[in-house]
Amino acid sequence: MTTSSLLEEAIAISKQFDVSKDQLVAISDEFIRLADGGLKTDDMPMTMIPSYVTGVPNGTEKGTFLAVDLGGTNFRVCSIHLNGDGTFDLLQTKSVIPKNLMVGTAKELFSFLAQKVDEFIKTHLEEKFNEEAGHSANEHIYKLGFTFSFPVNQTAINSGTLIRWTKGFDVVDAVGKDVCKLLQDELDLLKLPVHVAALVNDTVGTLMSRSYSTPGESATLLGVILGTGTNGAYVESLAAVDKLDKSIASLAGKSVMVINTEWGSFDNDMKVLPTTSWDNAVDLETPNPGFQMFEKRVSGMFLGEILRRILLELHEKGLLFSSSSTPLSTAWSLDTSILSRVEADSTPDLVAVKSIIETDLGLPTTLVERQAVKLIVEGIGKRSALLAGAVIGGVLVQIKACESNPVVDIGVDGSVFEFYPGYEELMRLALKEVIGENEKKIRIGIAKDGSGVGAALCALVA
Ligand code: ADP
Ligand code: MG
Repeated sequence: MTTSSLLEEAIAISKQFDVSKDQLVAISDEFIRLADGGLKTDDMPMTMIPSYVTGVPNGTEKGTFLAVDLGGTNFRVCSIHLNGDGTFDLLQTKSVIPKNLMVGTAKELFSFLAQKVDEFIKTHLEEKFNEEAGHSANEHIYKLGFTFSFPVNQTAINSGTLIRWTKGFDVVDAVGKDVCKLLQDELDLLKLPVHVAALVNDTVGTLMSRSYSTPGESATLLGVILGTGTNGAYVESLAAVDKLDKSIASLAGKSVMVINTEWGSFDNDMKVLPTTSWDNAVDLETPNPGFQMFEKRVSGMFLGEILRRILLELHEKGLLFSSSSTPLSTAWSLDTSILSRVEADSTPDLVAVKSIIETDLGLPTTLVERQAVKLIVEGIGKRSALLAGAVIGGVLVQIKACESNPVVDIGVDGSVFEFYPGYEELMRLALKEVIGENEKKIRIGIAKDGSGVGAALCALVA
């Protein structure tokens, strides 16, 4: 193995993750075309799901609510008290969803979720509510917002049938069922004083919570998820949502509706998205090959796996990691947080990369090997951020956001955005290609505890 051949190879691999300016513009154009199609008719690849949320909060909302969030990796249960001044108090517990429940039966999954709600109430709320004069826990009905971050065909604020699973879930008998009812039935079996009042996509929750927390200043028009998966929801004019029956009572006098784009499945046809042999290999390892093609190039569930495939290939070619056994042959074994930690190391000897590969993979490295890994990581991470920026740009063009607002606010939630070094700057590079100088009008901020607060806000309007 010569030093230069490994580095040359790494540079060549990293280059395969480049996205040109023309490609970014083509991606945004195609996004607008597909979004338009999804607003017109059902059964389009990019589903553009109406949320039945017809306004965004202004920070004066008040009350106490329960919220649960089935996001992909974790299940969160929280209680939220909205203070009515843009601030809130939040109490939350988080549990990892057991892998077997992600591919088991609906009954198993939803009874697990209900048990977690039960534990939360017993641990955190029972005492408090027993203390309240004249109220036993069972008399008090909590309104619960259910953040469920998979594509559902929403038919009202608190009901929706599951269209398909994503992000590694495959609970077959839940498809086509009303997920609010599945949860409510299990809560009722446990005799919990909880009413599932709103079904909320995490993107919608993120948008709502960001809008609540930034009152009076600017228009929050977009909520973005960059975590296990990726998706976006935005404020659309009701008139543009052709496929919606606007004569129903709940829409009378309304002018906007929040739309959940389901952009994870943007360009499943691969007309404009870039691809590599490793992307194709990762796709084939998933339960839904050919679907969620945008998500599979952008979100946390997949970036680590793309990296693992590349490193394994270099190892098998005899170019990387001379040790005969590596843990790299186990699918899904590299967490995307590794990419963040590698990216963050700017020391000349890459000492952090050295210790990451030593502790996480049990492998000693040479400096050249570490440089090679860093180059590849940078390619994968940068492509993710550029692609995210291009579709965000597409949404902003679609709603002419910058033409009518001096400042356009975007709320983001998810570990990839929050922790990947330089992610926002890279996203902004792509935004500039799509919306030009208007990029300066865009404010991007984390929607802290977005899904919980957002679900509470949706439960409140329900
Ligand atoms: P969820 O999607 O369940 O709401 P998160 O927003 O925390 O949860 O996203 C989890 C995803 O983010 C996982 O795919 C994980 O690999 C990835 N991740 C966790 N920590 C980091 C990090 N420091 N940098 C980049 N990605 C991360
Ligand atoms: Mg989340």
